[in-house]
Amino acid sequence: MIAEVIVDVAAATVDRPFDYEVPELWRDLVVPGMRVEVPFGPRALLGIVVAVKAETELARTKPIVRVLDETPTYTEELLELSSYLSDTTLCYQATALLAMLPAALKVSYDKLIVTETPRFSSWHQKKISQFPSEIQQQILVAARQGELHLQPIVKEKKTSKTDKRIRLVDPTIELSKQATKQLLLRNHLIEHPTVLWSEVMHELDLTVSILNSLEKKGVIAVETIDVNRNPYEHLVQDIFVPSRLTDQQQAAVDAITTPDETSTFLLHGVTGSGKTEVYLESIHTMLERGRQAMLLVPEISLTPMMVKRFKRRFGERVAVLHSGLSLGEKYDEWRKIAQGEVDVVVGARSAIFAPLTNVGVIILDEEHETTYKQEENPRYHTRDVASWRAAYHQCPVVLGSATPILETYARAQKGVYRYLPLKERFGGELPPVDIIDMRKELERGNRTPFSLPLIEGIKQRIERGEQTVLLLNRRGYTTFVLCRDCGETLQCPHCAVNLTYHQHQDCLKCHYCGFEAAMPKTCPTCESKKIRQFGTGTQKIEEELAHLIPEAKIIRMDQDTTSRKGAHEKLLNAFERGEGNILLGTQMIAKGLDFPNVTLVGVIAADATLGIPDFRASERTFQLITQVSGRAGRGALAGQSIIQTYNPDHYVIQTAKQHDYETFYQREMQLRKLGGHPPFWFLGLVTISAAHPLEAQAEAEAIAGELRHLESEDLIVNGPLEAPLARLKNMYRQQVILKHKGQEDVREALRAMLALRIKQKVQVTVDLNPFVF
Ligand code: ADP
Ligand code: ZN
Ligand code: ZN
Repeated sequence: MIAEVIVDVAAATVDRPFDYEVPELWRDLVVPGMRVEVPFGPRALLGIVVAVKAETELARTKPIVRVLDETPTYTEELLELSSYLSDTTLCYQATALLAMLPAALKVSYDKLIVTETPRFSSWHQKKISQFPSEIQQQILVAARQGELHLQPIVKEKKTSKTDKRIRLVDPTIELSKQATKQLLLRNHLIEHPTVLWSEVMHELDLTVSILNSLEKKGVIAVETIDVNRNPYEHLVQDIFVPSRLTDQQQAAVDAITTPDETSTFLLHGVTGSGKTEVYLESIHTMLERGRQAMLLVPEISLTPMMVKRFKRRFGERVAVLHSGLSLGEKYDEWRKIAQGEVDVVVGARSAIFAPLTNVGVIILDEEHETTYKQEENPRYHTRDVASWRAAYHQCPVVLGSATPILETYARAQKGVYRYLPLKERFGGELPPVDIIDMRKELERGNRTPFSLPLIEGIKQRIERGEQTVLLLNRRGYTTFVLCRDCGETLQCPHCAVNLTYHQHQDCLKCHYCGFEAAMPKTCPTCESKKIRQFGTGTQKIEEELAHLIPEAKIIRMDQDTTSRKGAHEKLLNAFERGEGNILLGTQMIAKGLDFPNVTLVGVIAADATLGIPDFRASERTFQLITQVSGRAGRGALAGQSIIQTYNPDHYVIQTAKQHDYETFYQREMQLRKLGGHPPFWFLGLVTISAAHPLEAQAEAEAIAGELRHLESEDLIVNGPLEAPLARLKNMYRQQVILKHKGQEDVREALRAMLALRIKQKVQVTVDLNPFVF
């Protein structure tokens, strides 16, 4: 028997399966979808069996070394999906396959523990028992004598039910310079004084002996604790009373759950219009029919309310795939899904690959969010994967949003998608939106980032015991360092971006490559001492706010305060319990927050995204203002939004104020048409990166030249141009942009172009659905 194996891509230069021999004794144990270890050149690599066959055309094949699975890790559907992904996003099939797995299953074989003696699982025993008895004998004898080439069972290293809490006791104890791993852990602990073994052992690649040595030396204290592998176990199982749906909600549920329905629906409803109720009811109906469901959310750590509602409604039948889970927890959730123990999967982007086998509905909540697009290979959009899986399972897709992207709304207008509006906010009006002209504030001599009405509004809320959410539009809020003598800003040595000053650690960081440096005392260029931080970081805003309203208790949510696992939830829970009057944060707080006591939402500088060089800048700004102003007045109390801007008359600000999506859409479509942007054109983005700027430019010109042969009325090649991020991680970047009308041959041409450039010094990537520039 021969297995066709896709080998972990790093070593392969050709994207195709390789034939391997399945050793005679194990012939029926190897089936498509299993992970195996195979020899590849001098190495042994992780592979995935995609097919088995009787014969090969090759004169010689090597045998599979080891089988890593008892049951297939990939369903037949997911194997097929990986071909689709590799076809449509132009990536290796191996890349697509690996992207589907939780990290615990992705680790290459050398990180797996092989069981000491051959042990047969019940599954193997059953298989073996079907063999003729003399073969059975042979297997057992060979196994006992250690003559078998492969180990039948491999168990993943995963966190056990107990864990160890590690505490730093004495960081001053001298450690040998050779003890690199000990130093690594010690330094990690200096930053995070208490950690769990399960978190650090994979991250830092440690062994227990390192832990023991450090404990013996008195550097750390270790305590064994019980861990709760069900991270949501603590959620109260309230008695659930289903809502009585409004007519529009009911109409939506009826449409979605019509038997044999396979459409894609746009559920267009303002925040608070009851979209989630529609999701819950539709899923409930599908479960009653014995089908399963997937709910995708933009970023799960930011949607704890949504998870709670699903847990409350469907209890143990829900698996939550959460980026904040430990490796072991993720593995558990994934296994539960694979073994059919749950019927509802809730998760962010990669949860779209959950191995459900009988899907009845797939829902993308907040479909406009950028997190649905993966920005590395495979460069897929979750919506496209959802469509593919829905077609496979013959089930509907629901795209929910108050502010669908233009492409989606246009499709609904054309009838490609079915349109389901929820016109009213449930049980109330949308909060009034006040636009504050910040130019007038300046004229009045107010130089703080806060207008008087906003300050007054916040003070009022504090007096009344209500809460405020303040949003900082991320792009405008970094602190950079500038020399006032020579005018140089401090830049990352590897990327063409300013370094960001972090007050807390008094250091400079590059947010693109992670470079860190101490804050210099003098300008590195001219040695002047007049070197200073400029700009308005979130910390600085917090300080100013604390100065203006000394009685305010402020909870800040940004990169610095949320870098640790579970930090999001902790901050959100603290705010929910009323431990802060103000929640201050970047974009991340705009998503899905639902706090009944929040009656004021402020956007500090709504314009900050209008000027970014991306044709979606207006759309993003409209979405942000609409989404965030929908956060006010979600409970019984009336809400209000205050939007501060320097462009009060801009159509984006005006239509967002009126909650008028339709007018915004019409206006924006005209501009898109004039500019030659989606949804009128499809895009293809080719990015060329090289260590030398001239190399990048030459290659970009060559590629643009090749593609120009295709040019027609329906295909335009722009470029090469310097990429907006012209230097990243020491690579100089150029881009070529294709605009086309959806022709298949564009993909073929790009595939051919890429095939010529495998393993070259110059890196070329193609994104057929670029979403963020
Ligand atoms: P969305 O997902 O569109 O933001 P939600 O589904 O969260 O809206 O609904 C907003 C609020 O209104 C929630 O507190 C929800 O429980 C409540 N709600 C929505 N529809 C109903 C209904 N038919 N009956 C009772 N409460 C409802
Ligand atoms: Zn200087
Ligand atoms: Zn950098």
